[in-house]
Amino acid sequence: MIRKLAIDDVDKNLFRGKRVFVRVDFNVPIREGRVEDDYRIKKALPTIRYLMDAGARVILASHLGRPKGKRVDSLSLRPVAGHLSGLLGREVVFAEDCIGEPALKVVESLGDGDVALLENLRFHPGEKENDPEFVRQLGQLADMYVNDAFGTAHRKHASVYGLPLLFEDRFAGLLMKKELEYLGKVRENPAHPFVSIIGGAKVKDKIGVLEKLSSTSDRLLIGGAMAYTFLRARGVNTGNSLLDEESMDFAKDFLERHGDKVVLPVDHVVSDGSTVKVVSGDIPEGFAGYDIGPSTVELFKSGIENSRMVFWNGPLGMFEKEEFSSGTFEIARFLAGYREAERILGGGDTVSAIHAAGIDDGEFDHVSTGGGATLEFISGKDLPAISVLKDL
Ligand code: ADP
Ligand code: MG
Repeated sequence: MIRKLAIDDVDKNLFRGKRVFVRVDFNVPIREGRVEDDYRIKKALPTIRYLMDAGARVILASHLGRPKGKRVDSLSLRPVAGHLSGLLGREVVFAEDCIGEPALKVVESLGDGDVALLENLRFHPGEKENDPEFVRQLGQLADMYVNDAFGTAHRKHASVYGLPLLFEDRFAGLLMKKELEYLGKVRENPAHPFVSIIGGAKVKDKIGVLEKLSSTSDRLLIGGAMAYTFLRARGVNTGNSLLDEESMDFAKDFLERHGDKVVLPVDHVVSDGSTVKVVSGDIPEGFAGYDIGPSTVELFKSGIENSRMVFWNGPLGMFEKEEFSSGTFEIARFLAGYREAERILGGGDTVSAIHAAGIDDGEFDHVSTGGGATLEFISGKDLPAISVLKDL
């Protein structure tokens, strides 16, 4: 089991009066200077509050969007500072730049328990390039390092890869700790019967995850657009449904090896652009499948029943459109109520789908904040930003 030294594994007094650099994931949607969805900000609150309470001088840093190494005003983190201040009920000082004079000045002004937020790390090309000079400049700001940004853990960027190595005291934050605990269980020692639900758009994106989960799962429920590639590989007519042609050989081979565990959709919500209907088996010419049908919903529910652990990645249909959302939403609701199993979810669109269904994260055991990082971790890869943290 992968266990890293976290902030609550050491004496809390260690943080008093110390400047603590905390890499968070505040990559949130911002429109007209307002935070549109503060889900990721809220996920970082336990770590921020813990360090404030410990009397640390908390220096928060994040990336936002893709400014390509230069200042882009619409990608400023300033609105996040205001929003966070509201959530914490106290001032969050904003630094106009993440390095140099503006950052140093703000850090110097902090008292014990105060919080600052630095400007977007990706305004500097050195962040993505893991440039040693940029790393050194970030390093000047702090005495200790904390990583709570699981979503960027698969990147070798300065703030998550180069920077922590400058510090003897480098820790996982509380969110990072929870991600490692739950995703670690999925990856290394799932409770059985263990059921995986995999959906989404492309087989290709999920080959590593499918390979890993096929070896540990007792059942593998496959839905979403990617199910059509597998159905096609089994000789089912898939009409105009999205196919991942380049993964067809993989799908055939995968079914040969693991077919006994795999459950594929038996009916579909299809459309030809004007008519929407449910069909069983083959998809008629001119139609494409956009959601699992009602019989498949029941089939998947019974596949989940009796399990003790469930991992779900990837929507089961094009849930963004109401007429194709019921498969994903029904399975989400069923899973939320199925408390006999530990239920762990991950993937950017999967999390959006849960929220679109009106389900709170708290209804599941763990909802991962990572997209690509979650998939890489589950498929068994060592994530660079985690490898540089200390083992517990
Ligand atoms: P995640 O981000 O959770 O890993 P993916 O990015 O793999 O998920 O896939 C999500 C996308 O797949 C969604 O935008 C959804 O609309 C799309 N999708 C799912 N099922 C279908 C389908 N049958 N046809 C077309 N698109 C689909
Ligand atoms: Mg996605």
